[in-house]
Amino acid sequence: MKYDAVIAGAGPSGAFCSLKLAQKGFKVLVLDKCRFPREKACGGLLSQKTMNILENYVLTGGMDFNSINSICLRGDSNEEIFMETRIPLGIVVQRKDFDQFLINKAVEAGATFIDNCRFENYTSESGGYKIQTTRGDFYADYLIGADGYYSNVAKVSNIRNKWNRWERGLAISAQVPDEYVIRKRDNTVEFYFPGILAGIGWYFPGKGYYNIGVGGIAIDSKRIIDAFKHLLEREVKNKTILSKLKLNSAFLPAGGRFRKISDGRIFLLGDAAGFVDAFSGEGIYYALRSAEILADVINQNKDFREYARMCYSTFLDEFRLSAFLSIFFGNKKNVFKKGLQYRFLKALYMIMTQTPESMCYKKILYYLATKSFSFDVPLLWLRRLMLG
Ligand SMILES: Cc1cc2nc3c(=O)[nH]c(=O)nc-3n(C[C@H](O)[C@H](O)[C@H](O)COP(=O)(O)OP(=O)(O)OC[C@H]3O[C@@H](n4cnc5c(N)ncnc54)[C@H](O)[C@@H]3O)c2cc1C
Repeated sequence: MKYDAVIAGAGPSGAFCSLKLAQKGFKVLVLDKCRFPREKACGGLLSQKTMNILENYVLTGGMDFNSINSICLRGDSNEEIFMETRIPLGIVVQRKDFDQFLINKAVEAGATFIDNCRFENYTSESGGYKIQTTRGDFYADYLIGADGYYSNVAKVSNIRNKWNRWERGLAISAQVPDEYVIRKRDNTVEFYFPGILAGIGWYFPGKGYYNIGVGGIAIDSKRIIDAFKHLLEREVKNKTILSKLKLNSAFLPAGGRFRKISDGRIFLLGDAAGFVDAFSGEGIYYALRSAEILADVINQNKDFREYARMCYSTFLDEFRLSAFLSIFFGNKKNVFKKGLQYRFLKALYMIMTQTPESMCYKKILYYLATKSFSFDVPLLWLRRLMLG
């Protein structure tokens, strides 16, 4: 069967790209190695800027979600400060539902979806590609890798082989039913900075549960696990359920370097392209935005260089500043003691509401830099960040 585009991976980037391409009249096949609906390690927070890309799809689509209108920053000794807004700052969803919802939208728009179907390899054939999968061969003009952190499309096309050690993030999360948590704050997302380099912890209220997690640089994995255990013990009242909770963990590729993301008619999206905000761990916005950019590039018959140029002119400077921010303050555990709490709370608010085009991180760094801070900076990391 011949398609205009075959997309490997039906997470947010693959589903949204297939939706956008189908809406523009392209014949699209999206396939996923998992049987849907499938679980995915995630905090499930869709920020306000993500909601804006999704327009009204999610809010009017009948999917369960919880609206957020306040952010809390928590200190190491349980100090806390809040910021409330009248406009929703985002929503909390279950990824299983959200990803199924987006792929349903793509199918309604005319895309074909095959789950339980793994992309394996491809060969070039008469100006297009023969795409080999566990459920047979397909033919297409474009091959799109939306297949996440371990992208097989990136590997077999030689666009990228593996991530460098220092650009790998690791995050762990668990969903705790409402009745087991000590503090109930239905419309507030809470963040805190554990004693981990580039680390962030969260406490997000979903519908009937709290999503609790910690992320940081993967080479600090032992401390990430310890901080996660500590957070669960602090927030869960019935300790007997701790051993029964299902824990989810996954790697994330931190954005901030120029990497090859396309070649010929092969393109990478979202996590496969390395588009994750190193400071906040936010990836869904960039998955959707890169999908939107690619659908326009294909529709306008532009080439792979234009896709890379557009993605990097939109994201790269901001990703660099985000990576810089995530390590520049070193261990941010003591933001309250250093009197920086209001500035970091405002930074989190800006990250949820402002796009890279509005130079969110540039504004944040300017704002933070007007206050003195200590230089507990890991110099080797800084050098690598700057020199690539
Ligand atoms: C613990 C944790 C918490 C997070 N919390 C948040 C959050 O609250 N908000 C936020 O914005 N971001 C969050 N992120 C980041 C976010 O989950 C990712 O950035 C986002 O999922 C990227 O979407 P994607 O479509 O690019 O990739 P993915 O969501 O990883 O989807 C890739 C898909 O490809 C499929 N696939 C893989 N290989 C193949 C193959 N060979 N053939 C076919 N299919 C294949 C997989 O089954 C999967 O369905 C979090 C990440 C983690 C690990």
